[in-house]
Amino acid sequence: MKIAMIGTGYVGLVSGVCFSDFGHEVVCVDKDATKIAKLRDGKVPIFEPGLEALMARNVAAGRLSFTLDLAEAMRGADAVFIAVGTPTRRGDGHADLTYVMAAAEEIAHALDHYAVVVTKSTVPIGTNRKVAETIRAANPAADFDVASNPEFLREGAAIDDFMRPDRVVVGVETERAKKIMADVYRPLFLRDFPVVYTGLESAEMIKYAANAFLATKITFINEIAALCERVGADIKAVSKGMGLDGRIGNKFLHAGPGYGGSCFPKDTKALARMGQDHASPIQIVESVIKVNDEIKRRMIEKIEDLCEGSCRDRTIAVLGVTFKPNTDDMRDAPALTIVPALVGAGAKVRVVDPEGRREGEQLLPGVRWMEDAYSAAEGASVLVILTEWNEFRALDLQRLARTMADPRMADLRNVYAPADARAAGFTHYVGVGR
Ligand code: NAD
Repeated sequence: MKIAMIGTGYVGLVSGVCFSDFGHEVVCVDKDATKIAKLRDGKVPIFEPGLEALMARNVAAGRLSFTLDLAEAMRGADAVFIAVGTPTRRGDGHADLTYVMAAAEEIAHALDHYAVVVTKSTVPIGTNRKVAETIRAANPAADFDVASNPEFLREGAAIDDFMRPDRVVVGVETERAKKIMADVYRPLFLRDFPVVYTGLESAEMIKYAANAFLATKITFINEIAALCERVGADIKAVSKGMGLDGRIGNKFLHAGPGYGGSCFPKDTKALARMGQDHASPIQIVESVIKVNDEIKRRMIEKIEDLCEGSCRDRTIAVLGVTFKPNTDDMRDAPALTIVPALVGAGAKVRVVDPEGRREGEQLLPGVRWMEDAYSAAEGASVLVILTEWNEFRALDLQRLARTMADPRMADLRNVYAPADARAAGFTHYVGVGR
């Protein structure tokens, strides 16, 4: 199989590398010349564990290459994947389809043989049909089918998720396209990972419904956590007791500072807009969006309470700013709400993150970047754990408390037991939901 992959971001690059590891011949295309130059140099422009080594192996095997030239990538390709961004459109919450439609136009002009045009980007229901119309309008003679193949990988565990997915969803309308998609995913098929074939609209909807459901689950547990704080229950025990029920499951039941990242915020908003546009509002998701914003703001109040009402001139050490561990992605991270609020309130904010600095330096003005948790905490009066990177999970709490001016901890991921923090010398400890 020969595959062209348009977009070498978190999804396109991981998918391209993994497809080449299946044995397919993959050419990845991007408009960003710096990215392509880096990739040709063997360097991965994002942080994703294991990706660089897997990429090198497949480049060396001659199955994987990178180009700026779409026509070159599409030469002889059986499937052309669109994996470009679909951010929130400014102003109205809809998904911005500019990049997807631009890619469709470009594909139309380069299409000189039959190929399946596969949308991997998360796109509103009806987009695959629009992609087909766009290609047909730009190149009436084009011989192609479209397929919807939403991606479910998680940043930080992307390779494993791609190679061992819970399911692959493929929306197709012709046997010819179905056969090519089956060949693309045959290596997974052989290992018994389920492939769900549907129509185009259902495939598009599965992605939004799945993401909105997960965002709802997180937000639900975060609201229960807030009530736990009022009534003396411990959310960790509550989550455990709930999650052992097979109908509920234990995943996505960890209370924290609110969801963020490149998918949940934009996908919930886009789904809510679609519901409104079709006079079928998804009221649960509308509430989730609102509640999640409140949860992030509640985290700021927790820190202000630890500062006895005012953060002015307090030194606050923030551990972790990426939206979750094992990624450098800062898109819609809770840190982007919480840290500027602290800076705005007059705090001296120090920040540590193993991979977030490159992005974070532009996004978080007015903070001081530190090398590690210990140097950040020295002389500080509040330690905030915002992202539970491994290196923040087994800190020497005594050492931290000893060097802090006024050892207080806001553990927004419930990493430490309150009793352990107090025993180590923290005079105040607040978590989430306990
Ligand atoms: P990204 O912003 O990291 O990458 C997009 C890439 O596409 C960029 O490198 C950009 O330069 C390139 N691009 C844009 N237009 C192009 C064009 N016409 N030709 C060539 N390259 C072009 O985005 P991402 O995080 O990989 O997300 C891509 C899509 O996948 C989105 O729809 C997203 O919702 C979805 N998705 C993302 C994740 C995730 O964890 N990031 C998971 C599942 C699904």
